[in-house]
Amino acid sequence: MIPVPAIRQQFIDAGMSAWADLLPAQVETALSADSHGDLGRWRHLLAQLPQVQTDNLNLQADTVRVGLPDEVEEHVRRPIYQTLRALQPWRKGPYEIFGIHIDTEWRSDWKWQRLQHHIQPLKERKVLDVGCGNGYHAWRMAGEGAELVVGIDPSLLFVIQFNAVRHFMAQPPNVHFLPVGIEAVPGNLEAFDTVFSMGILYHRRSPMDHLFDLKDCLRPGGELVLETLVVDGDQNTVLLPRGRYAKMRNVWFIPSSAALKLWLQRCGFQDVRVVDVTPTTTDEQRATDWMAFESLPDFLHPHDSRLTVEGYPAPVRAVVIARK
Ligand code: SAH
Repeated sequence: MIPVPAIRQQFIDAGMSAWADLLPAQVETALSADSHGDLGRWRHLLAQLPQVQTDNLNLQADTVRVGLPDEVEEHVRRPIYQTLRALQPWRKGPYEIFGIHIDTEWRSDWKWQRLQHHIQPLKERKVLDVGCGNGYHAWRMAGEGAELVVGIDPSLLFVIQFNAVRHFMAQPPNVHFLPVGIEAVPGNLEAFDTVFSMGILYHRRSPMDHLFDLKDCLRPGGELVLETLVVDGDQNTVLLPRGRYAKMRNVWFIPSSAALKLWLQRCGFQDVRVVDVTPTTTDEQRATDWMAFESLPDFLHPHDSRLTVEGYPAPVRAVVIARK
């Protein structure tokens, strides 16, 4: 499922021997039979996908598209549809596979639009996407011409979904998904030209350590693209929820964008810029036919959509860009 030897070689060529050495054991541990109760079933589903491949990719439009509707006949599309349905919930997207539209919980394309024109062009860059979800943005990074995209995310359903999308590509771009967390990346790597951390910081118990970890991954002069929840306020404003935030149990620090800027400066980042601040709407995050669980409408206060169900400020997300 993961071409470890090829990735290892690329890591060595990119000056990441320290990670290359750890990689085989990391992937083996992550995909070991007892790492997730559903893994065997998911792998079985993947193996059942019809063996069809296409050169028709569009990684530059809002919908990541693999194949055209008329490239497969109905008796082939049907099992593809059923397998993709069985791999729910689909949270990040949208995708279209041989005309099958996967309407995901998130309009991840909107996040991409908000940052796309502010970042250093990705052409020929080596890119790391920390907490890459099912890889939607990683495909978009490849669509922008990145030379190498490495997405890391410990969620095993996401590595399966990523592979379900890649399965149909006759010549997949140089995008790799490793089912590991940021803890697996060795310190002082200094190898990537651009590092993305989107939707991660508020899940970290030690946000400053996360920022230093991201800095470690970047080569000198490289660019950090950070996206996270923010609240209103000045340099000294940080929300630490008492318990859940928008029903999420694992939310720790939500700074103001001014505080976030200061955090990055304290870590030694240069040219720190807040390029976007946008409230999350129920058009951007909602339950769909492909993600049937609760979503943002259920996380907001029933009588006041400016608040979460817990009474905290409703989700607002910022994009901050900085240089190492
Ligand atoms: N970056 C995507 C997904 C954000 S959701 C986007 O912006 O749309 C947050 C992701 O972080 C989840 O997919 C979760 O599996 C992942 N995650 C959780 N712990 C992590 C860790 N220690 N290192 C990297 N990613 C992690």
